[in-house]
Amino acid sequence: MSDFRLNTKCVQGGYTPGNGEPRQIPIVQSTTFKYDTSEDMGKLFDLEASGYFYTRLQNPTNDYVAAKIAELEGGTAAMLTSSGQAANFFALFNICEAGSHIVASSSIYGGTFNLIAVTMAKMGIDVTFVSPDSTEEELNAAFRENTRAMFGETIANPALTVLDIELFAKVAHAHGVPLIVDNTFPTPVGCRPIEWGADIVTHSTTKYMDGHGAAVGGAIVDSGKFDWMAHKDKFPGLTTPDESYHGITYAEKFGKEGAFITKATAQLMRDFGSIQSPQHAFILNLGLESLHVRMPRHVENGQAVAEFLEKHPKVKKVSFPGLASDPYHDRAMKYFGHGGCGVVSFELEGGREAAQDFMKKLKLAAIETHVADARTCCLNPATSTHRQMTDEQLMQAGIPAGLVRMSCGLEDKQDLIDDLAQALQ
Ligand SMILES: *Cc1c(COP(=O)(O)O)cnc(C)c1O
Repeated sequence: MSDFRLNTKCVQGGYTPGNGEPRQIPIVQSTTFKYDTSEDMGKLFDLEASGYFYTRLQNPTNDYVAAKIAELEGGTAAMLTSSGQAANFFALFNICEAGSHIVASSSIYGGTFNLIAVTMAKMGIDVTFVSPDSTEEELNAAFRENTRAMFGETIANPALTVLDIELFAKVAHAHGVPLIVDNTFPTPVGCRPIEWGADIVTHSTTKYMDGHGAAVGGAIVDSGKFDWMAHKDKFPGLTTPDESYHGITYAEKFGKEGAFITKATAQLMRDFGSIQSPQHAFILNLGLESLHVRMPRHVENGQAVAEFLEKHPKVKKVSFPGLASDPYHDRAMKYFGHGGCGVVSFELEGGREAAQDFMKKLKLAAIETHVADARTCCLNPATSTHRQMTDEQLMQAGIPAGLVRMSCGLEDKQDLIDDLAQALQ
């Protein structure tokens, strides 16, 4: 599939049936796989042969879909995980351990912020958060001798800041560590971070990739470009023998192209077991088949809604990178050529009461803790995901009480605008 364009890869990537085989990817609904001899099976356990033995580690349905996502991102290997949270945890924990340090953008998804700042801290992994608007000098200053990874989101959920991937990659590489980018919001249809220097790309496939609010899932893609052996001392998990696999050294045996995903599968999936079910992988693939058709419509609807809201007297402020007035507009044009996704956030005059009142009156947009669905949905963080925080704390976090996050779906944009107009009245 590598010779084909992105649109074609969305439809047919990852799986090419042979003569008389199923046209649609088969759901291999089996926990286990049968072998004629224990020697055959032994080779799989020694990573001497590739194949399947237990669905906690690998399943053919998942691998077809992961291969498609790898093609879309321009990577060499990929794996599916049970959720986006598992994807980001595995991507970081595959190269970090107690005593390691991470440099991460402060403008990231709340779940990922908690994962890194609270849960991974309990594992002895430190973090320094940096502004996505940091200068090169400021980014350099955040690095330490024990830094093992840099992390950011292409478009942050929900802040809608745009990451300067090229700059972050340059700084990460100057310190001999990989840049991991969560590319959930633009998807590879809008942006391919590997082309801008990212080494590892992660996804919550729960969002646009599935796109129908049907299946929670995640994915990790390796660019195959980071030279682990050139930084041997920093990544002993990849560059020294793994005793739990008879002394295999991943970076030697599987090379730059395969080491990261093989280790994450063989060790982390084996030990943590956060695999996506083959049923979910099948549903995810249905979403991927139309991703290139859906994303432009999400972006178009987001742009139309943002432009309408920007002119409305009851709206204080609108954030959408596709607006010329948005502070991230130039970066969005550089990395996507448009607004990037269909999520718009805006602040109403009148705080949380006004926001709640407004959302109650919407007919098309449902109140949900979700984004990136075919159906438009919205959320007031101050009364839902962030309701423990006082008004003062909300202001400090850059989430005013009257903020509404709206994820524009695939409906007719004029119907969305009419709905907003009547609710604002
Ligand atoms: C939703 C989300 C996640 C977490 O993914 P889940 O599939 O909900 O576990 C991670 N990163 C971003 C940018 C997200 O929007």
